[in-house]
Amino acid sequence: MSRLWIILSFLFLMAADAPQVYICDSPYAACYHRTDSCEGLDLCNHEVRRIPLRDAKKQGKRPCKICYKNDKK
Ligand SMILES: [Zn+2]
Repeated sequence: MSRLWIILSFLFLMAADAPQVYICDSPYAACYHRTDSCEGLDLCNHEVRRIPLRDAKKQGKRPCKICYKNDKK
């Protein structure tokens, strides 16, 4: 029964409006990107994946300096 709840909450989280980011699926990629057309991803010779922001943070990734530079105040 508890497994059903895990699945339901997982689906809920997937459906929730979680911010998505783009990462290069390389072991050397250290950043996540706001857009898949970022210059930083041009250098990526692996697959570019779209993942939730919190997953990127969980993987220890930092915001890309190119596409997030305007966020700093
Ligand atoms: Zn970027």
